[in-house]
Amino acid sequence: MEKPNFRTEMLRTLEGKTPAQIPVGTFTTAPVLELMDMSGAARPEADSQPEKMAVLAFSQYVNASFETLRYPFDVVVLAEALGCSIDPGTKARTPAVLKGPMEISPAVPELPEDLLERGRIPAVLEATEILREKAGSKLPLIVGMEGPGDLATSLCGITNFLKWTVKSPHIVTRLVELCTDACIVYGRECLKRGADVVVIADAVSSPVMISPDAFRSLIKPGMSRIPKALGSGKSVLHICGAADPIIVDMAECGFDGLSLEEGIKDLKNAVETAHESGVAVIGSVSTSRTLFAGKPEDVKREAFACLGSGVDILAPGCGIAPETPLKNLKALVEARNEFCGRKR
Ligand SMILES: [Zn+2]
Repeated sequence: MEKPNFRTEMLRTLEGKTPAQIPVGTFTTAPVLELMDMSGAARPEADSQPEKMAVLAFSQYVNASFETLRYPFDVVVLAEALGCSIDPGTKARTPAVLKGPMEISPAVPELPEDLLERGRIPAVLEATEILREKAGSKLPLIVGMEGPGDLATSLCGITNFLKWTVKSPHIVTRLVELCTDACIVYGRECLKRGADVVVIADAVSSPVMISPDAFRSLIKPGMSRIPKALGSGKSVLHICGAADPIIVDMAECGFDGLSLEEGIKDLKNAVETAHESGVAVIGSVSTSRTLFAGKPEDVKREAFACLGSGVDILAPGCGIAPETPLKNLKALVEARNEFCGRKR
């Protein structure tokens, strides 16, 4: 049988159409050590050198059989471009924000005109072009970035952010507006250079971090601007943890897909809610409990449960730990193959 066109299948799924088989891959970061060793492209170089970033992204397809090319491998690219100091990390440790500019001076900054030339943004854009060339029209390019809430948190520090959501919501509103604009400018350029899907990951939007009401009043208005501003490009929203109380709101933001974690309490209900708004669901095999610490048979068992709950794309629930065994990533693909074979 001829291999399906994974890019077409993925884009069709995100349009709410039924694919030939359920796609499998990742919409969250996947810098696994074994992939670094096999591909010869390791972090921290793969976080900032376009060639290496592209090689490591492509190894997700070559070595793990994923049907997605997901990059970059951290969620602080925009934060760095907007003036946060960064710990570049090591092979097994993701780059992270050390300090945000608003922790030093509390004024909300303006969106810099040269945003696309700052920090590692040029490297991600160049990696996009390399990957498009390499993948042709056969594989989907999934570019990820921190969402407006997470970016705001990086700029002002988590303590200030949480305090302001209660005591000074007007500052949060202005800050989220700036961060939303940054996501849009960067996301549009990624699409222009050849990316297919923009994933907005916003951990701070989770009900475990801020109340559903705070999400609705402070973050949702900006979040809802993003999919429209990205035009015909596809977009996915990832929010961690038990997002059940805000699934309706997430679906209303207008993204083509929602990427959900295993922390969700009722996946079946979340899928039904998303589908009512014509939104696809991506997930949700546990990255910590199962993909990192489990065995291939545990991965398969959980993958079957996700597929049974109706997810449209089988994927890890959140970012994958670097020490995650490659055989567990491959088990995701095997689970999909077995599930689809069984259904036929
Ligand atoms: Zn997550």
